[in-house]
Amino acid sequence: MNILVTGGAGYIGSHTVVEIAKSGHTPIIVDDFRNSRESAVDGIESILGYRPTVHAGDCTDPTFVESVFSQESIDGIIHFAALKSVGESVERPLPYYQNNIGSLVAVLEAALRHGTKAFVFSSSATVYGEPDSNPIPETAPRKQATTPYGNTKQIGEDILRDTAYASNGLLRSVSLRYFNPIGAHESGLIGELPIGVPNNLVPYVTQTAAGLRERLTIFGNDYPTPDGTCIRDYIHVVDLAKAHITTLEYLFSEDVNKPAYDVYNVGTGNGTSVQELIETFERETGVKVPHTVGPRRAGDVVVCYADPGKMNRELEWKAEFTTSQAMIDSWRWQRNLWFTS
Ligand code: NAD
Ligand code: UDP
Repeated sequence: MNILVTGGAGYIGSHTVVEIAKSGHTPIIVDDFRNSRESAVDGIESILGYRPTVHAGDCTDPTFVESVFSQESIDGIIHFAALKSVGESVERPLPYYQNNIGSLVAVLEAALRHGTKAFVFSSSATVYGEPDSNPIPETAPRKQATTPYGNTKQIGEDILRDTAYASNGLLRSVSLRYFNPIGAHESGLIGELPIGVPNNLVPYVTQTAAGLRERLTIFGNDYPTPDGTCIRDYIHVVDLAKAHITTLEYLFSEDVNKPAYDVYNVGTGNGTSVQELIETFERETGVKVPHTVGPRRAGDVVVCYADPGKMNRELEWKAEFTTSQAMIDSWRWQRNLWFTS
């Protein structure tokens, strides 16, 4: 199968491109490199031994998207391309709506015109907001989004659902609700490449350990959790990448009872606190992470971890990597960046 991967040079996209190729399919990358670098494609090339096709351009541009679809024979699509900084989306909502919704609509229109059969959308656990209880199943209510970024994921899910049902079963689609992706490829050749100061915990931890940041601030240790810090479901990015292949193969299978649209959580089912994550990093790498406790970050959910049972049962996918392994892999990637920069 030829799989179009929008945002394929990004963090999750680059790992997914590798797994697509490893599973015998052909990845075709579309990216305008607004939040990634061409060096990610070099890394993919080093891992695979060949350079995948790359179409450089903006997925919100229907003319560009149409030109890609007319040059390639596309069987399935994984749509990663989006802006993802939650805080920035509060300050500058319009680029988030323009890009995250605009790219989805442009790619879906082309998919319908060209008869593409399978579509996987990058959604997020953020659609659950502050959940009523944990672990969170897919049946938990989506709460009113508190940020424009979160809202683009809710709207994106709805657009995909409506489009899939209106296509009379011609386009099958799934929204994958990712929990917190961390880690990097075991080769150390691809990983997360935040541009500027990282917003997310793990890149901040590795950059602090590398001496690029003076100290990490733990955003609050007075939450109602065992050690007072927030709890998340950290999933290794390679496990997450593999979940996309499993999902595509499910969408391509001939089961007539499959719904035109479905939703799956992609998480480990384990909750890890900020404090525990830092301790795991220090234990596994032997490197200290200077840190201090600061005030709570506005809008942070206290506890959020997945019930991955639906994905485990229906798609026979299960997370395999431990948080310890993710820390080792993140650190290997950070050190490679450090030595090569
Ligand atoms: P990323 O920024 O590393 O990758 C996104 C890629 O899309 C980048 O390479 C960027 O250049 C590209 N892109 C953005 N807009 C584009 C456009 N209009 N045209 C072409 N390319 C465009 O982000 P990521 O962490 O790999 O996230 C991938 C997806 O997963 C996003 O949709 C994100 O919202 C979602 N997601 C991420 C997380 C996370 O914590 N990383 C969690 C939940 C969901
Ligand atoms: N966090 C932190 N310091 C940082 C970055 C994040 O204490 O510099 C905490 C944050 O408050 C949250 C957890 O780490 O409890 C995960 O944050 P991240 O931004 O990585 O993911 P998200 O909040 O989107 O789940």
